[in-house]
Amino acid sequence: MALIVQKFGGTSVGTVERIEQVAEKVKKFRENGDDIVVVVSAMSGETNRLIGLAKQVMDQPVPRELDVMVSTGEQVTIALLSMSLLKRGVPAVSYTGNQVRILTDSSHTKARILSIDDANIRADLKAGRVVVVAGFQGVDEHGNITTLGRGGSDTTGVALAAALKADECQIYTDVDGVYTTDPRVVPQARRLDKITFEEMLEMASLGSKVLQIRSVEFAGKYNVPLRVLHSFQEGPGTLITLDEEESMEQPIISGIAFNRDEAKLTIRGVPDTPGVAFKILGPISAANIEVDMIVQNVSHDNTTDFTFTVHRNDYLNALEILKQTCANIGAREATGDTNITKVSIVGVGMRSHAGVASRMFEALAKESINIQMISTSEIKISVVIEEKYLELAVRALHTAFELDAPARQGE
Ligand code: ASP
Ligand code: MG
Repeated sequence: MALIVQKFGGTSVGTVERIEQVAEKVKKFRENGDDIVVVVSAMSGETNRLIGLAKQVMDQPVPRELDVMVSTGEQVTIALLSMSLLKRGVPAVSYTGNQVRILTDSSHTKARILSIDDANIRADLKAGRVVVVAGFQGVDEHGNITTLGRGGSDTTGVALAAALKADECQIYTDVDGVYTTDPRVVPQARRLDKITFEEMLEMASLGSKVLQIRSVEFAGKYNVPLRVLHSFQEGPGTLITLDEEESMEQPIISGIAFNRDEAKLTIRGVPDTPGVAFKILGPISAANIEVDMIVQNVSHDNTTDFTFTVHRNDYLNALEILKQTCANIGAREATGDTNITKVSIVGVGMRSHAGVASRMFEALAKESINIQMISTSEIKISVVIEEKYLELAVRALHTAFELDAPARQGE
């Protein structure tokens, strides 16, 4: 008999009919003899609706009061799901974050979980009940309701699974797993049977928005096996684990991620003296702007060019600051470009294989795609290219690294 935490996202509980379908599903698991803790999100659109209401009253709602309000979304779904289970003769009980006692810090709207009291939940499981917990919410030491940041129900699911030492945390959603890349860009993209926490973190941070990043970090830290599954279609989904054993047989690259949210800034003709990087990036970070990729050219004529990327939302602000720096340090010019995309190949197999980078560059060269910047980590190689080549690049790489799904019979 296993203990499973099952998290259902907003679209999976978006209507009463769907909540009833979820109840049917949970009932089947229960009948197999497994202990089940269910974590639910608010019905789809509800959290946005509530935030909208608050904004009608004030542009920047007081965080404590906003948390009191948005946490009601999940409170509705736990009650509806518990009723649906009880109606089916499945003993069930709902819990708000406070009732469990999911203790968090006091950072309203982005609180972090400090501890979870599992005593009540364990007693209910022992008594044969399905426990239905509200995602996204907790309580601080003073009894204030807190929330964990958008998409935070994933984190509730993983944190509960860690606290209860569950056998698996299943995240039910509107896709049937994690894909080698976005199927809307590459129709041959394949569902992965398995991926490591590390790889998933890279994929997620690069924009594959299947899971909230924090939940993956949490799962990795506490080694909670995570499985992403479709709520209403049968299938094995994708298992996310620590396990790299099978990587010998696995492809070198697990996936290709891309990010259209970056912009590039360049400062040219910078006097090449010690402290240059600090002089350029110091004011940027002082403005709370995060820098991603950085390239400094080899100096000639005692001057150097320096290029870096930031989030597009920070672009205008960063350019303004860079122009100021340009004048202050006597550099030649500061320019920027928003027509770029970052494309990355991700895979733990890179650790044990040489020549991965050159294979990537070859595939891009064959399509005459110019690489503007390169950065590497142990399990990832990223390039910045002109935005209009995004689809071409991702497709070429998907094929070059043998990720394409085999053509179906007759195709
Ligand atoms: N309902 C919350 C949100 O929309 C939390 C979640 O769904 O994970 O962000
Ligand atoms: Mg979500």
